[in-house]
Amino acid sequence: MKRKDFLKKGAAAVAGSALLASGCRPPGWDKEHVAYEEGDAVAQGRKYEWTMVTTWPPNFPVLGEGCQLFSDMIFAMSGGRMKIKVYGGGELLPPMEAFDGVSAGTVQMANGAAYYWAGKIKAAQFFASVPFGMNAQQMNAWIVRGGGQELWDELYAPYDVKPFPSGNTGVQMGGWFNKEINSLADLQGLKIRMPGLGGKVISAAGASAINIAGQELYTSLERSIIDAAEWIGPYHDYLMGFHKIAKYYYYPGWHETGTMLETIVNKSAFEALPLDLQEIIKAAIYWQNVFTISEFEAQNSGYLTRMINEGVTLRQYPDEVIAELKIKTKEVLQEMIADDEPSRKAYEAFSKFQKEVSGWANYSESVYYQSLMEKVKKADVIG
Ligand code: CA
Repeated sequence: MKRKDFLKKGAAAVAGSALLASGCRPPGWDKEHVAYEEGDAVAQGRKYEWTMVTTWPPNFPVLGEGCQLFSDMIFAMSGGRMKIKVYGGGELLPPMEAFDGVSAGTVQMANGAAYYWAGKIKAAQFFASVPFGMNAQQMNAWIVRGGGQELWDELYAPYDVKPFPSGNTGVQMGGWFNKEINSLADLQGLKIRMPGLGGKVISAAGASAINIAGQELYTSLERSIIDAAEWIGPYHDYLMGFHKIAKYYYYPGWHETGTMLETIVNKSAFEALPLDLQEIIKAAIYWQNVFTISEFEAQNSGYLTRMINEGVTLRQYPDEVIAELKIKTKEVLQEMIADDEPSRKAYEAFSKFQKEVSGWANYSESVYYQSLMEKVKKADVIG
């Protein structure tokens, strides 16, 4: 029996069962697998050499490392039939040209974050980070099981690009300041390095958002070209050395609450691969997703303790400031979706899912975290 017929018969046998009705397969699974022909097996002897560019400096901790591990995994899982050479940002293509490179097929893959393409596709920002957005767990749920992947596919399809979730930073830190932020008035006129939608929000709140690339960030803060800066979290911020030149380390990263990283693949090249290699790529990206968030979680906790031991002053954004920033976020998002249909569509799907999962989180994660924090404060582990 041909595989195609087998799958059709198999599907008919379980039609109406709870298993199928609940959509237990990953998005796109049935469509792709029914298209599988026996002839594909003939191509299995062929070797593939692909190129991946990244938006990160070469061997960048966690993010760059994850790409190299992904490449090693592809080689092992394919029994050496597929090799993916990874390039750091600027080695082959400038970081911000990665999307265009994949779209044109100059390179087959890239790793970065969707908000880097905001100038080309405004709605892409919903697939990386939105201020006061979802956390890592919720973003994964939206993409993998909540319709997010389909929407993301649709957004990139005109560019012949297929996206996958390849990691998440988790909740980032709120940034380094040399003065305390006790009210919105303290933000007025401050030059703050904060890219993307977070930058628009902080500008709407009276600060002046500036986007500065990682390489120039330390010097800019040290020489007071900027007054404050956000980067990622304790691990990367420690390596940058910000604790040596800024007094206060603010939390939480309201502007990046669970920034999703992405691997993008040239869609035509991907679909031309034998099915097993397609599945190997997907499996390795999903593995990279788990590696990345796990590495961030493991390293951030250790580096936060290290920073505290070295005298870093932690400060929480006051509730009043957070409340004002939330209002500004709504205004910024409304303005963003007013004249851009794909952004409106992504916003509605994102907001609907966030509302639903937040309802559940109110009885699960958030309650648990609150009780955990109480215990931490009582134990006086963190000041
Ligand atoms: Ca950041």
